[in-house]
Amino acid sequence: MLCYLNMVVDKNVAFKNSFALESRASFVVKIESKRDLLEATLLAKKEGLPLFPLGSGTNIVPKPQIEAVVAVLALRGIVKENKTVKTMAGENWDEVVAFATQNNLSGIEALSGIPGTAGAGPIQNIGAYGSEIKDSLVQLEVFDIQTEEFKVLENRDCNFSYRDSIFKQEKGKFVITEITLALSEEKPQMPDYRDVKNYFAEKENSAPNMLEIRKAILEIRKSKLPDPSVIPNCGSFFKNPFVTAEKVKKLKEEFGNVPVFQQNNLFKIPAGFLIDSLGFKGKKIGKIEIYKNNALVLTNPYGATFEDLLFAKSEIERAVFQKFGIKLEAEVNILE
Ligand code: NAP
Repeated sequence: MLCYLNMVVDKNVAFKNSFALESRASFVVKIESKRDLLEATLLAKKEGLPLFPLGSGTNIVPKPQIEAVVAVLALRGIVKENKTVKTMAGENWDEVVAFATQNNLSGIEALSGIPGTAGAGPIQNIGAYGSEIKDSLVQLEVFDIQTEEFKVLENRDCNFSYRDSIFKQEKGKFVITEITLALSEEKPQMPDYRDVKNYFAEKENSAPNMLEIRKAILEIRKSKLPDPSVIPNCGSFFKNPFVTAEKVKKLKEEFGNVPVFQQNNLFKIPAGFLIDSLGFKGKKIGKIEIYKNNALVLTNPYGATFEDLLFAKSEIERAVFQKFGIKLEAEVNILE
């Protein structure tokens, strides 16, 4: 451990990832203030290494040795100003959702239970049950690594799309330090997703309130997703692919009832359906196990390595492409 100006710097140490892969970084720095972030950037530049911002490691798959200064965002604080919630990047995302719902502010309740930090949310434009963070996000404060300046970005500057943003497209440029969400005092709509509708139909509740929606989402997620502290995983491993109308026609002709969701003039096919129809659900590929309740989740119950995971990933991609002619793309951030 080194003391670098005001912050604690660990050299060549392991860092946390929810897939439980063994991985070390050249330096790991805990960022508790803006000054720490500036100092971490100076350290990275002095060492000739990239600065790699990290939240709680719930959406990364790292190789065994990362040559970088890993900056673990631990900036804390949440405030409510009228119908706006401002949160620092290091807050746990679900605690932000809980804070909003406790304050009777709707807009993000469908994003309940998504693991990770608030600052990581905009990177892949986290989404669930028909909501995306981009729908509520008005502004972000970022740190520009190159110019060493803090800046404000508006929603329109972030080039948001399905599980994508400028922060994925221009990796290594910004560190998100704070986000501002514009929420509503209106009663939210029930998400138009089968699992949610079935949940409330069973309860004979056709107009659930915000807290009931949050509770439903947390319970549904719990039944379909493994707890990473029990079975290491990083949630949905692949993105749902989008295809053309022509491709949908071909798929239906060849395979019958393929689920399809139209968004604008593209058609979304659930990646989990494609993987499941190849019989992978609950099966092992080497040391990786495909979760028994959700084919989109790869799990690591047996101490797999990075290579084991890449092997399972490529086996699934190959099989899906061979059968359906669709190329899957990882949703998780693979650090090769
Ligand atoms: P599901 O209900 O089994 O449906 C499979 C896929 O079909 C989903 O991924 C969803 O796409 C799409 N879909 C289903 N109903 C839809 C509708 N009414 N309109 C548009 N698209 C629809 O999905 P699931 O695996 O249990 O996940 C439920 C939700 O939680 C999804 O929104 C999913 O993205 C989200 N989730 C996210 C993560 C993560 O790690 N990022 C993990 C688990 C679940 P979309 O994914 O585009 O919604």
